[in-house]
Amino acid sequence: MAILKIEHLGIAVNDASAAKKVFEQLLGKPSFKEELVESESVNTIFYELGESKLELLEATDESSAIAKYLGKNRPGIHHMAVLVDDIYAEVKRLQELGFHFINPEPKQGADNKLIVFIHPKSAGGILLELCQEINGKLLG
Ligand code: ZN
Repeated sequence: MAILKIEHLGIAVNDASAAKKVFEQLLGKPSFKEELVESESVNTIFYELGESKLELLEATDESSAIAKYLGKNRPGIHHMAVLVDDIYAEVKRLQELGFHFINPEPKQGADNKLIVFIHPKSAGGILLELCQEINGKLLG
């Protein structure tokens, strides 16, 4: 088991269509995926950036964690996501070391991933997402 790379940076935005315009000009290419995650009340827009991605996050209602975040913070980097090859093993390993998770039970996120979040207090002030590609074995 291992943490493999920075999978994406999550960027909280107030207005996805305005942010999309900015990032398409900035990166010189269109997004490759837009996905509504209804369980989290977020709209996501993804850009490929070499080995990593940018994930724009727009709240779809006030219950969204992104709406709460933007109530207290400016738009900008919201979290960093690292790709792992065995999310359950990494959660166990890090819990045994005393890391505090926001949701220790992996759940389905955007872009076909299982995700968990480590609390910023446990991760140098960074909201850290662990993510793993969903495959048939995990879903079965
Ligand atoms: Zn993310």
